[in-house]
Amino acid sequence: MTQSSFADLGVSGPLERALRAENYTHPTPIQDQAIPRLLAGRDLLGIAQTGTGKTAAFALPILQHLFAGRPGNNGNAERNDDGNGKRGGKHRRRAVPRALIMAPTRELALQIGESFRSYGRHLPLRHTVILGGVSQHSQVRALSGGVDILVATPGRLLDLKEQGHVRLGQMSHLVLDEGDLMLDMGFLRDVRKIIAALPTKRQTMLFSATMPTDVSCLAGEILSDPVRVEVSPRIITVEKVDQRVFFVDMGKKRALLSHLLRDAGMSRVIVFTRTKRGASRLAIQLEKAGFPTESIHGDKAQSARQSALARFRKGGARVLVATDVAARGIDISGVTHVVNYELPNIPESYVHRVGRTARAGAEGIALSFCDTSERPFLRGIERVTKQPITVVENHPHQNAAATGGQDLSQPRPSSTRKAPVGRSAPKRRAASGPSRPKQRRSASGGSAPKRQGWSGERIASGGTSHGGTAPGTADGTTRGGAGARRRRRIRRRASAV
Ligand code: AMP
Repeated sequence: MTQSSFADLGVSGPLERALRAENYTHPTPIQDQAIPRLLAGRDLLGIAQTGTGKTAAFALPILQHLFAGRPGNNGNAERNDDGNGKRGGKHRRRAVPRALIMAPTRELALQIGESFRSYGRHLPLRHTVILGGVSQHSQVRALSGGVDILVATPGRLLDLKEQGHVRLGQMSHLVLDEGDLMLDMGFLRDVRKIIAALPTKRQTMLFSATMPTDVSCLAGEILSDPVRVEVSPRIITVEKVDQRVFFVDMGKKRALLSHLLRDAGMSRVIVFTRTKRGASRLAIQLEKAGFPTESIHGDKAQSARQSALARFRKGGARVLVATDVAARGIDISGVTHVVNYELPNIPESYVHRVGRTARAGAEGIALSFCDTSERPFLRGIERVTKQPITVVENHPHQNAAATGGQDLSQPRPSSTRKAPVGRSAPKRRAASGPSRPKQRRSASGGSAPKRQGWSGERIASGGTSHGGTAPGTADGTTRGGAGARRRRRIRRRASAV
């Protein structure tokens, strides 16, 4: 948060009231930087990921512009609808969409729609969400009733456009959200076709967590003299998260998870698996073991995904097992722990996962289960995040490689072995032996006296096989070979996730 207020940024009264109801006391850094420029009509390139408050950063200026440009607006911002976005009586008009927000995943689109609903609650503007995986019937009906703001995934939007159900010719605002994921998921062609149908005179905003070459090319095509606003997602999200790693054999991970879940402090937990099948299987096993669990992944019907999320949000399920793509962008408050049941081979996925438990400044705990074969992934993660991950020792399922051959899964009388993981539990600092009391042991093997002391070069020279940080880039994934390799890896995994 910053010390300015939303009013200082130029946000109008009705929006401010809605923000107060959301308990947003101060703008986040991305809001602070983006809102005044967007209100002034500039195009914007935002390097930020979900969790930074970027939705409000683009939604508030759009709502304010659309309301100001609304026919018949006399400056009185009160809404005259029934609270559900439906206007009635003599004020009813058939709105034509003037703002389009495109998001790569259905969950993210729904979440953005939800944000427009809450921020725009005192304004007489309508929005609707267009997404695939469900019948188009209600979406077509909403469109024909008239909407001001469209939030959409590209595939279904293009489909409805080609069927003649949606008019794009009056759009004055365009947002492309999660640009890097959008392109990774193969939406570039659809996105280009949609943009070609929009007026060239418009305000355009592109948000992306990273800036690989294809995203910066797209930015060059669609943005006109943009301001560039960057908040470093890794620093914001990962630094606030208490990160710990358990060395454990693959076959013992489920037992370790059940063991940890006995701690009631793990009250709202997202568990990440690498595959869709793995997510389903683990959810069933946890449910059978007595832990109310839901799962979301790409093989589930949209309605099943939504009801799983709703149950988890309401606390009916304590655990949500998810794959990366399904969970990207999901905003669920109060997640106490993220568990990386399998470590992702792409460090950025780790950052996204871990960010689920430290939304907009809140703190959280991320626990990673690392099999011997996953150690290189751990090294890659530490190199990108530039932070050591604390090793939890003496847990009952510690793998032999981490204990010098001793099998700690065999019952032993000592209670001190039990690794605490709850919020109140003291952080365990592994390998900080008596002679080096203030040092942390890096999970990937190095010794890291201080966070600042962690340079990419130092670790890279330690012989890791993971590609080093590309010169001149922030994260080594944004240019040339490393970016291409990352996208190839994602494409290979796309059918599994
Ligand atoms: P986003 O990055 O847009 O997905 O937002 C992440 C979370 O931060 C959401 O739960 C928002 O409701 C919350 N949020 C956004 N802006 C603020 C703010 N200024 N103060 C507090 N929470 C915020």
